[in-house]
Amino acid sequence: VHPRTRVAQESIFARMSRLAQEKGAVNLGQGFPSEPPPAFLLEAAGRALGRYDQYAPPAGHPRLREALAEEYGVEPEEVVVTSGATEAIHALLQTLVGPGDEVIVLEPFFDVYLPDAALAGAEARLVRLDLDEGGFRLDPKRLQEAVTPRTRLLLLNTPMNPAGLVFPEKTLEAIARLAQKHDLLIVSDEVYEELAFVPFPRMRAFAPERTFTVGSAGKRLEATGWRVGWIVGPKEVMPTLAGMRQWTSFCAPTPLQVAVAEGLKVARREGFYEALRSKYRARRDLLYGGLSALEFKAFLPEGTYFLMARLPHSAQDLLEAGVAAIPGEAFYREDPPEGLLRFAFCKKEEELHLALERLSRLR
Ligand code: GLN
Repeated sequence: VHPRTRVAQESIFARMSRLAQEKGAVNLGQGFPSEPPPAFLLEAAGRALGRYDQYAPPAGHPRLREALAEEYGVEPEEVVVTSGATEAIHALLQTLVGPGDEVIVLEPFFDVYLPDAALAGAEARLVRLDLDEGGFRLDPKRLQEAVTPRTRLLLLNTPMNPAGLVFPEKTLEAIARLAQKHDLLIVSDEVYEELAFVPFPRMRAFAPERTFTVGSAGKRLEATGWRVGWIVGPKEVMPTLAGMRQWTSFCAPTPLQVAVAEGLKVARREGFYEALRSKYRARRDLLYGGLSALEFKAFLPEGTYFLMARLPHSAQDLLEAGVAAIPGEAFYREDPPEGLLRFAFCKKEEELHLALERLSRLR
């Protein structure tokens, strides 16, 4: 095999899900809900299967591009549908950067960013968030210090996995100014946008001419296995992006695209996202309260369905005790802060209670 396949290791998320299953552990590792997607989405898929079963255009089924255009207040030509946000990020890096370019990535980072930068031949320059008793913080000055003549792209994630931050307008304004000054492109991975527990501003509002927004039906409609994601960005680049993503999966699953197009409208109309947020806010508080009561240091997230905590136990110890979590090292390239673990709380309440009970026996 070619040396580029050095990125082909089993991902930490896949690994922890496999181990959780093997050991019968409560899976608070990989971020996927343990409850089914909403009935309106399943019914829409039921109607689409048998009617929309062949290829869609690589840029996306027209109905989904239109529904997304309405969501974001853009033209359908500013939208490209992908097989999940994972393919979106891959296609963006393949399209926007290459050898000799640097990509700024915030650390702790979601795992796909570094292999995708490497596969594009670009170099990832990490900007580490500060971490103290109050939690994670981004000092925008650090971003500025990381810019070199080779910087081409700034890769953001807000709400941020795994740090749980939602970047306020002030920070996004500073990022937009920095990008404008140095003529940088911005990729803003906003797959958790409907899972923000504080006001959520979109990056593209501050620099629409250079921002590519990544979104995910899997995250906002609770169907991570459907593989329907998208990119919203400057119109002139979108045909090239569609042309690049056709070489990976050609198109995202057509019947599921049609179902998502309908689901997005119903979700908006019926207040689905408000209900989703209040459900997860309650679960976040349950897990945060439970970990704090066990005297573990937990950091309350402003968004996403992940919570970081400091425990005097390793992910392996937890697994032995029957709880799967993601070790903090997975989100750092080197020298990770000690004792960090990421817990997903997009799980049933009874799973969270069971996990807390098992953790209480660890002490
Ligand atoms: N976003 C999910 C997480 O952080 C994992 C996605 C994946 O495994 N591809 O848990």
